[in-house]
Amino acid sequence: MARRPVIAGNWKMNKNHLEAIQLTQKTAWALAKEDTDAVEVVVCPPFVDLRSVQTLIHGDKLPLAFGAQNCHPEPSGAYTGEVSAPMLAKIGCRYVIVGHSERRQHFGEDDELVNRKAKAVLGAGMQPIVCVGESLEQREAGQTAEVVSGQVRGSLAGLTAEQVGGLVVAYEPVWAIGTGRAATADDAQETIALVRGTVAELVGRTAADAARIQYGGSVKSSNVEELMAQPDVDGALVGGASLDADEFAQIVKGAARRAR
Ligand code: PEP
Repeated sequence: MARRPVIAGNWKMNKNHLEAIQLTQKTAWALAKEDTDAVEVVVCPPFVDLRSVQTLIHGDKLPLAFGAQNCHPEPSGAYTGEVSAPMLAKIGCRYVIVGHSERRQHFGEDDELVNRKAKAVLGAGMQPIVCVGESLEQREAGQTAEVVSGQVRGSLAGLTAEQVGGLVVAYEPVWAIGTGRAATADDAQETIALVRGTVAELVGRTAADAARIQYGGSVKSSNVEELMAQPDVDGALVGGASLDADEFAQIVKGAARRAR
């Protein structure tokens, strides 16, 4: 089954709303139609930038989707400082990243919370990008398969085959994020195949074959094609390199060459 790869830029806590407008414009201008036909391109700016990015993308009909980096699992209520999934759906987000390792590490998010957030995102009609990945310690202890499949089971628990078939999982080894040390293409393929196998055990082979599974962790224009050449790698979640429009566009172009 053909899966359209998705290249998503996670801007993390970078760019104010004026800078976000510039970066979105530059990113769109650097891309050709054949790139955005072959792969879906998504930008995930901070919450305060979303309205500006939405106005630009919708107003100028830019070939980009946009998403958020997090949400609260409840639709509304007394949760000072939080943003809900229905609010993000209303502004036009197509995606919400949930369970990024920085949130697991710095904000104590566990699989149970990630699961509630994934359900909230789906319930609001958007697609979660569910992040999983092992730490360096876990990798060195030979626990990668156990940790990653456990995170997949916990984060996707209770979802239907239809829901899982339409979502995105990002395999992001923690030791590769922001370090310049990407996983090898073989290692990425091995763990992503394991993620797909776990998804198949959970909800069946058809949904597992439909779900898109990205690799994330120090993706650059110089390594994206090798990663994308792997049969189970359906795109990339890109952090640092997504803040440079030209480099991000080169990553998209590399992915698109592999996808065509
Ligand atoms: C990320 O933040 O999801 C990420 C993969 O970061 P980087 O590309 O900078 O490693």
